[in-house]
Amino acid sequence: MKNYLSKTACEIAPYTAGEQPADRKYVKLNTNENPYPPSPKALEAYQNYDFSLLKLYPPLEMRNLRGAIAAAEGVAPENVFCGNGSDEILALCFSAFFDPDGAGAAFADVTYSFYPVFAEFFKIRTQILPLEEDFTLDLSKLTAMPAQGVIVANPNAPTGIGIPLGEVEKFVAANDRIVILDEAYMPFFNESAVPLIKKYKNLVVVKTFSKGYSLAGMRCGYAIADASIISGLERCRDCFNSYPVDRICQAVCAAAIADKAYYEKMNALVVAERERLTAALSGLGFTVLPSKANFVFARHAAVAGRQVYEQLRARGVLVRHFQKPRIADYCRITVGSREENDALIAALRDWIR
Ligand SMILES: *Cc1c(COP(=O)(O)O)cnc(C)c1O
Repeated sequence: MKNYLSKTACEIAPYTAGEQPADRKYVKLNTNENPYPPSPKALEAYQNYDFSLLKLYPPLEMRNLRGAIAAAEGVAPENVFCGNGSDEILALCFSAFFDPDGAGAAFADVTYSFYPVFAEFFKIRTQILPLEEDFTLDLSKLTAMPAQGVIVANPNAPTGIGIPLGEVEKFVAANDRIVILDEAYMPFFNESAVPLIKKYKNLVVVKTFSKGYSLAGMRCGYAIADASIISGLERCRDCFNSYPVDRICQAVCAAAIADKAYYEKMNALVVAERERLTAALSGLGFTVLPSKANFVFARHAAVAGRQVYEQLRARGVLVRHFQKPRIADYCRITVGSREENDALIAALRDWIR
């Protein structure tokens, strides 16, 4: 049969999201969703939304949502860009800040596995910096790489390791080129670089409602940067989809981000559970990297990562395993509710003993 697909469609290796098997009910600790429900204020915004408005395209300027994000982040609305999940914004970043014939994008060997996919899709060169033996990132080495721009996930995924704001600021100051900071997990670390955007025009901070706001199903993310950077993102967005954030999503996310007290309380519970889970895993013979995110990255002294994943799956608990160099011994385990974490620990005890 004749092949009607483009070379890209035939050849690209896309990102693989965490599995969602339907054969039975699982304790789902494989995609870093928040175990707690979204804010009651978000629910109220959803229930009160005037359905008849859906015949109209969403507001282009997203004044309400951008205003709510700006207020929560301490910036102006023109410093805010919103998208259909932060993955979409990261994709737009690759087209907005890198040229196919440029020096490329520099990032770590062990980081969010979507970055190499975006680079390949947009035909942008990559410069890959191996993390240190202990999976920390040497920012001075990244600064020394002759790329057009750099991208850092902080806290990093899938390691969970966080970089304090002081070090991030030195890094941003030392790089006279675009610095993209992916702060998907910042609600569990609280060292956001957003305040730096006033001082550094080369900085773009990307955040999401998926992890810290319990709204993964809503698909909304945002970027914070100088207005000149934001308008570059808007130009690229308007080449694909002028309305990436639907009306209901705008209303729900605006209400969510205004409910700071609720999310601080819930995310503190996640952080407390993270520490409890880390201690329990250590007691079962796991080495756990020091996590600042809502997941832990753990390796067992005697059992291969794949086997941990498979044995847990057989017991109804899903975690994430990456069959990749350097990290094949590890599993990434989302911090769940107390009950979910207990189920994970019980499943491990059941079998490791
Ligand atoms: C989950 C995640 C995202 C984005 O998720 P969206 O749901 O698309 O907003 C971005 N970066 C990292 C490192 C993530 O883990």
